[in-house]
Amino acid sequence: MAAKDIWVFVENGGSGLELLAPARELAASLGGTACALTPDGGLTAECAACGAGRVLILDGAENAPARALAPSLADIIGERSPAAALFASTDMGRELAVRIARRMGSGFVADAEGFEADGSGGIVWSKSVFGGETRLQCRCDGEVQIAAIRQNTFKKAAAGGADAGVEHISCAAGRDSAAELLDVIMDAAGEMPGLDGAEIVVAGGMGAGGEEGFKLLAELAGLLGGTVGASRAATDEGWISTSQLVGQTGKIIAPKLYIACGISGALQHVCGMSGSDVIVAINKDAGAPIFKVADYGVVGDMHKIIPALIAEIKKARA
Ligand code: FAD
Repeated sequence: MAAKDIWVFVENGGSGLELLAPARELAASLGGTACALTPDGGLTAECAACGAGRVLILDGAENAPARALAPSLADIIGERSPAAALFASTDMGRELAVRIARRMGSGFVADAEGFEADGSGGIVWSKSVFGGETRLQCRCDGEVQIAAIRQNTFKKAAAGGADAGVEHISCAAGRDSAAELLDVIMDAAGEMPGLDGAEIVVAGGMGAGGEEGFKLLAELAGLLGGTVGASRAATDEGWISTSQLVGQTGKIIAPKLYIACGISGALQHVCGMSGSDVIVAINKDAGAPIFKVADYGVVGDMHKIIPALIAEIKKARA
């Protein structure tokens, strides 16, 4: 194993197989090998056919949930130090990738749609943001780069079909109870009041820019006696728990007041909050679709508007 190898996590059921062919190309340009990492030994031949030069079978990890698998997998990835570990952007893959990146302190790219060698041993990732209007190229901090690849970006393909070397790795999924407990405590510490029944929801999207942006939204929500909601792009980034996701794949809610900050207003989000009594949208793009469903619209930078709003509320209360 070397820092030039590209690892692909292949889930039970085969999600991730489609990433092996492009991973093989990337590994070749870095001078390494594409390795499949899977809890399902029955997928060995298919992993090889799809492009894996090596298959690492995680013994003891079959059917383990992400929470239980993440600590051991982070240790294995940390010890072997590949250049990158790729996950399919399924519920399981996203959660696993975010948990592993958090444990390793690695950079993480959510919903990546492309990756290539940059010519000097690094990797450049690409993804769409702002509802697909802008294509972003990014680099990741950390020794091992972790990425979840948007589903349907790549199709499963035969790539080589050569026999792959097979290695069994003992993976004590769920048995590292101390590490798992720490994860549970960390999750609980970051937990927000639930969305169900909340009368006021202050929701953030990509415009929040990161966990710090969500802390600001939590402060406003706390002052108003409400809770924090989020778009899927924000939960995919790991900035806030998926329990706060609003929309088609999250919660459908109808609070008295919904404040959407830095959220573009994609249909899949709007269907989860359009029943709110009053909708306030804060967005720096006057053409953002969220303004079509908003009762009040504020065009501007949420990082300036929210602190000003917090200060005004505190002043009024004092
Ligand atoms: P973007 O679309 O990237 O928009 C960010 C917005 O922030 C932009 O409008 C920008 O102008 C604004 N902005 C940037 N910086 C600032 C700033 N400093 N101040 C103010 N504004 C700023 N999405 C959901 O939300 N919920 C779901 O349940 C959901 N389910 C989905 C299911 C499927 C099958 C699919 C395909 C997609 C689903 N999505 C869902 C994703 C959805 O299509 C959008 O990609 C997502 O809602 C976009 O999130 P966003 O608005 O935060 O990000």
